[in-house]
Amino acid sequence: MYTLGIDIGSAASKAAVLKDGKTIAATAIVPYGTGTTGPEEVYQKVLRAANLNPGDIKKVVATGYGRMRFSPADKQYSELVCHAAGVHFLQPQVRTIIDIGGQDIKVLRLDAEGTLCEFVMNDKCAAGTGRSLDLLSRTLNVPVERMGDLDALADRPLQISSTCIVFAESEIISHLSNGASQENVIAGMHRSIAKRVSGLAYRLGLEETVAMSGGVALNQGVVRALADELQVTVHVHESCQLAGAIGAALLAGRQ
Ligand code: ADP
Repeated sequence: MYTLGIDIGSAASKAAVLKDGKTIAATAIVPYGTGTTGPEEVYQKVLRAANLNPGDIKKVVATGYGRMRFSPADKQYSELVCHAAGVHFLQPQVRTIIDIGGQDIKVLRLDAEGTLCEFVMNDKCAAGTGRSLDLLSRTLNVPVERMGDLDALADRPLQISSTCIVFAESEIISHLSNGASQENVIAGMHRSIAKRVSGLAYRLGLEETVAMSGGVALNQGVVRALADELQVTVHVHESCQLAGAIGAALLAGRQ
């Protein structure tokens, strides 16, 4: 029995097909989210990767910002329950999840069965989210995929005092025109994100094991800065960006 989960985010569309609710048959990521062709593309892409037709899928569950606008879905679930289920499937020992996506930050606490117990989220502001790194990537003309490596080369990370990403960008441009290196700017931004996120994490209280999920977890610079700030080991699964889609496919199987 195959089930499909699709996570339609603000920045990317992710999909996963599970076999018998136990093994991952295929996954796909397309780097555009809700309101674009991303959801349809990722749906076709994951079916091709699994070598299946839509009729072979028993149930489809959609999650993420765009979940209400995806017509092949049989059911929709919130990102919170899908992320909890997906991370528990990938890393059963995890009790605290720090999820940073394109538009929001969530900190979730799970029990040993993977049930969501408590959570906190950022307010509507984009500070500390993937959006701030996407903006920095455009300003510096450096792909987000390289930011972790450049962070590791910083010798004097900048202090970025503005929280607002619009003000932070002006501050960064002024630092760059005064000769600051890209590495120190990037490392400064990662530290500023880690400070903001750790404030949220402390509000909930940290219980180990701690994991990071969402696309920003692919940035080792942010992961290192967060581990430094929280003084804990932050575990990252290679499928961290797919956690919501995998959780949705799991919940589809439990219907
Ligand atoms: P959403 O669910 O809101 O669409 P995601 O969890 O998919 O968000 O994360 C998207 C963010 O992940 C992007 O804003 C981008 O900055 C970041 N990202 C995606 N891929 C990478 C990568 N390879 N390295 C670093 N950051 C990445």
